[in-house]
Amino acid sequence: MAMGMRGMNRGFLTEEEKANRPKVTFSLLKRIFSYLIPYWKQMILIFVFIILSSIMGLLPSVLTGRIIDEGLINRDMKMLITLILVSLGVTLGANLIRVGESFLNNWIAQHITFDMRNKMYKHLQQMSQKFFTSNNQGDIITRMTSDISGVERVVTSTFTSILSNTITLIVAVVIMFKENWILAGVGVLVIPLFTIPTRWAGKTRWELTQDAQECNDEINGILNETLSVSGQLLVKLFGKEEYEYNRYKNVNNKMIKLNIKESMAGRWFMVIINTFSSVGPMLLYLVGGILMMKYNSSLTVGDITVLVALLGKMYGPVNSLLNIQVEWIRAMALFTRIFEYFDMPIEIKNHPQAKKLEQAIGNIEFKNVQFSYDGERQILKDINFDLKSGDSIALVGPSGSGKSTIANLIPRLYDVCNGTITFDGVDVRELDLEWLRDKIGIVSQETYLFNGTIRENLLYAKPDATDEEIMDACKKANIDDFILKQEKGLDTMVGNRGLKLSGGEKQRLSIARVLLKDPVLLIFDEATASLDSISEKKIQDAINPIIDSRTSILIAHRLSTILAADEILVIKDGVIAERGVHTDLVKSGGTYTELYETQFYKPE
Ligand code: ATP
Repeated sequence: MAMGMRGMNRGFLTEEEKANRPKVTFSLLKRIFSYLIPYWKQMILIFVFIILSSIMGLLPSVLTGRIIDEGLINRDMKMLITLILVSLGVTLGANLIRVGESFLNNWIAQHITFDMRNKMYKHLQQMSQKFFTSNNQGDIITRMTSDISGVERVVTSTFTSILSNTITLIVAVVIMFKENWILAGVGVLVIPLFTIPTRWAGKTRWELTQDAQECNDEINGILNETLSVSGQLLVKLFGKEEYEYNRYKNVNNKMIKLNIKESMAGRWFMVIINTFSSVGPMLLYLVGGILMMKYNSSLTVGDITVLVALLGKMYGPVNSLLNIQVEWIRAMALFTRIFEYFDMPIEIKNHPQAKKLEQAIGNIEFKNVQFSYDGERQILKDINFDLKSGDSIALVGPSGSGKSTIANLIPRLYDVCNGTITFDGVDVRELDLEWLRDKIGIVSQETYLFNGTIRENLLYAKPDATDEEIMDACKKANIDDFILKQEKGLDTMVGNRGLKLSGGEKQRLSIARVLLKDPVLLIFDEATASLDSISEKKIQDAINPIIDSRTSILIAHRLSTILAADEILVIKDGVIAERGVHTDLVKSGGTYTELYETQFYKPE
């Protein structure tokens, strides 16, 4: 009967849960069950196990009656020992079945969550960049981890608890009525006597806990506000010490009262439970005794013991089933949240008749391209340019003018809102996404390296690359000297996100990584942060020959990079404001001249 107080609190919904009560529809249930269907054989087995263990769990109570009547009262030693052994055997059997049941239970739950996790991960990977930039990373991870773990709990506890408690109750009631319908009736009538005060006490306690929580938050708020450096300064300067002290004392006082009330509610709760849980058996003994003594009923001492024992076995399941509604709502809310994620449309999809071209050449054309991230603010208003295979262009412009956006549209990290971008004459939206992205290499402003060795990071671009190929790419990226100087060479760890490397080293490693991929089109989004002149020179020495040999788009902030390009496009206010070569543009007196004078990082 020692039911955990905390367990009782789970039986009530918070205001937030009440407000967000999920809509349970047939299609939601069907969808949940579709995850169970692959495991239907195991489900049937569990079902059988639950029935068996519920019945066998009740059998010892029934056998107690016979132990008393046929063994003890009849003074039959052989029968007594046999019944005791059978009872022990049944108990052992029921517990062994429960072991199998919990193994199967966990097995199914783990497999369902395994399926869901994989499905969710795959789905999230298909989501566009927009999804990742507009959703809180913490939320995404919570959905992936705790929500899906919640499903595991629902399968292992909620579903099976409904099943096993219902079966136990039905079987107990049937046996009781078979033993003696009058006593069974009394037993069933007694149950609300126990459950109603339990729920009432549980609710009071729960409400007090909620109030105490609020009070605690208030106390923390006061402490945080007034005991911080700036808070104390304000209190002192305005002479509010007394006021703040009284405010703190009042809330503290409220808290003490709540705490006492809460612990006393716990005491009352135990008194009520203990009293009512013994009222039931006493009533059965009384009514049983009256039937035996006054009405000469055939009822035996054993029968009454059986009924009392069965009644005791009903308290737990009745209580659990009373909490089931809440658990059910929580489970449905959990599934609804997970399905909401599954239903989020995949924005960047492969075309149904996606094309893979025989050979990629690398001619890029932007025709009247318009783009907005949020559907409101136009970032690109009308962009038109073409880049011939083998050529290179530099995109320059004020910060935030949309240069990186132009680059991101080519591998379809986002799709254009209007206009078209073609790759070798084919709209990028008609090309196979994997094929297209394979042909494009981007060295982005923020270099991302995984926590691993230099080799592992480079192999990400080409898993089957030999050490020779790797070193060749490193040589082109001007990072080979650095690697050779390391004691462990390619096996040097780069640290979390490459933190053990300098900014320049990281950039050159990411250039080497792109070179290993050997893309047809190279996009180099130059970091705006200034590097020291040696690092800069090393990057420049690496990038210049690469630009000469392949089609490239350079989002440039440094004069040396700009000068390496065949043509310069100046992006401003969502359009190409100027284009040409450096010598002409610098003389024009327009945006480029202004940028040249104020923003470009020029060699010293
Ligand atoms: P910089 O030279 O500083 O790197 P940029 O010219 O490359 O700038 P973009 O990164 O293309 O500029 O950004 C263009 C505009 O789009 C900016 O005003 C930026 O605030 C906005 N923007 C960029 N990414 C997003 C996003 N994921 N969601 C919404 N707005 C964005």
